[in-house]
Amino acid sequence: MSEVTGSPKWSRRKFSTACIGFGIGAAAPSYGQLRQDLDLLPRGSDAFAKSCGIFNTDVHLQPQIIAKCRSVDAVSKAIHYANERGLPVAVRSGGHSFVGHCLNDNGVVIDLTEMNRHSLLPDGVGFVADPAVKLGGVYELLLPRRRLLPAGSCAGVGLAGLTLGGGYGLFARQYGLTCDHLEGVTFVSGSGEVIDSEDDADLLWAARGGGNGNFGVAVSFRFRTQPAPAFIAAERFVASLSGVSQTVSLMRRWFEIATALPDPIFAALVLNHKGASVLMTSTYAETGPAFSRASAQFRAAGMKSKGSSRVEPMRSVKRYYGRTEPLPFRNFSGGFYQGMADIEGAAEGIVSALRSESGLIFQINTLGGQIANGPESAYAHRAYPFLGEVQAYWEPGQSEKRERLVAATDRIRLGLQQSGVSRHYRNYPSLDFSDWENAYYGSRYSKLQQLKKKYDPSNLFRGSQRVSLET
Ligand SMILES: Cc1cc2nc3c(=O)[nH]c(=O)nc-3n(C[C@H](O)[C@H](O)[C@H](O)COP(=O)(O)OP(=O)(O)OC[C@H]3O[C@@H](n4cnc5c(N)ncnc54)[C@H](O)[C@@H]3O)c2cc1C
Repeated sequence: MSEVTGSPKWSRRKFSTACIGFGIGAAAPSYGQLRQDLDLLPRGSDAFAKSCGIFNTDVHLQPQIIAKCRSVDAVSKAIHYANERGLPVAVRSGGHSFVGHCLNDNGVVIDLTEMNRHSLLPDGVGFVADPAVKLGGVYELLLPRRRLLPAGSCAGVGLAGLTLGGGYGLFARQYGLTCDHLEGVTFVSGSGEVIDSEDDADLLWAARGGGNGNFGVAVSFRFRTQPAPAFIAAERFVASLSGVSQTVSLMRRWFEIATALPDPIFAALVLNHKGASVLMTSTYAETGPAFSRASAQFRAAGMKSKGSSRVEPMRSVKRYYGRTEPLPFRNFSGGFYQGMADIEGAAEGIVSALRSESGLIFQINTLGGQIANGPESAYAHRAYPFLGEVQAYWEPGQSEKRERLVAATDRIRLGLQQSGVSRHYRNYPSLDFSDWENAYYGSRYSKLQQLKKKYDPSNLFRGSQRVSLET
């Protein structure tokens, strides 16, 4: 649901557990006592079965209760409910976590999917959003009003999870990450208290890249937006590659060209079992010197242009919306790099794995640009201009193919690890990353642990790859 209002529909609220009517130690509410803004769906019920699915159908976690929340109050109540029963809590907004970090086994899932209002503020710059607003909805509200929140491409991804882990996309090099545009955030802590970054600056620091499911529930986001570009230019190039060494040479050349791109140009290299493609998008005209130069360089590298275009932003963004129906897959970060030297030792192994099986993709995206100049925050990877992603897709029921693809992605992951790639994007998690604390958060991890003690001292938000209280 989207709306443009004369004043925000809701304001920052601050109240303690005392206002809510029951706290830890009070008699536990029965299902019937809970008001309409909270549904507790027990495992085994039809409503639970309808709510438990997430985008990656290869995730099979089974919580005990899904707490469907429709208000901040309801989130506080759900937290008390879990606290009183000693159950761990996971938080779900858009449900696009690769590994199901929005679910848990035998705990409570705070499901925010019905908290999905968003508004452009009367100043035409500020944008406020509930947690379960999706990226498609953000673009569709803002772009017709000539505003842009730089974010990811796929329409179904949740703004909450994306922002709390960083958030990059076609416009990040020019304007910075989604989390760099976050100016204020309201959380419900592990004790059910509503806290706001206006009162506690640490909260904003943590929410910009370190807030996914670690210490509380983000219930409201306040962003600044950018002026939308008048158009977006794009060009796609393809190459069919005959051998491993030819592909590795193209990778080297890709890094050389991409390193020199100006901030308004984004490019992605996509390798699969058949060959390579490059997508280049820009707020510069495709006829301008910077775009034309890069285009000529990709063609000189042996790639064939599939044609260029220049269209208004809404039309362009929709081209990259991707699939919204759930599917089985195994995707994870291929690591942050400075350049080809960081993956030189793994490159042949990556290409060999790709050639072994259809359904595998290795993608390298350009970061850098204004990301490097963003605010100091829990996002720990500003210095890296490239991000790799390993992807594997199969059809439901293809269990043997799944096994082969999983084995191939494991080979790629281990090859990258052996080459020294150790920093990974929090929003592209793998349960197999060793030293995930350092991989996702680097030097920020110790401050996140201190904040965990402050916001969630009883470790309600616990589970795999959550910031730990133990130092
Ligand atoms: C198809 C697809 C395309 C993608 N494209 C991009 C892209 O272009 N750019 C990019 O940067 N990333 C991209 N991602 C990764 C994406 O940013 C993460 O998967 C992100 O975490 C999804 O957020 P969500 O709200 O949809 O997910 P969820 O699964 O609901 O949550 C993901 C994580 O965030 C936590 N979380 C969610 N909501 C809250 C909340 N309100 N408070 C506290 N914690 C919360 C969850 O507990 C979980 O740990 C993509 C993912 C997919 C599947």
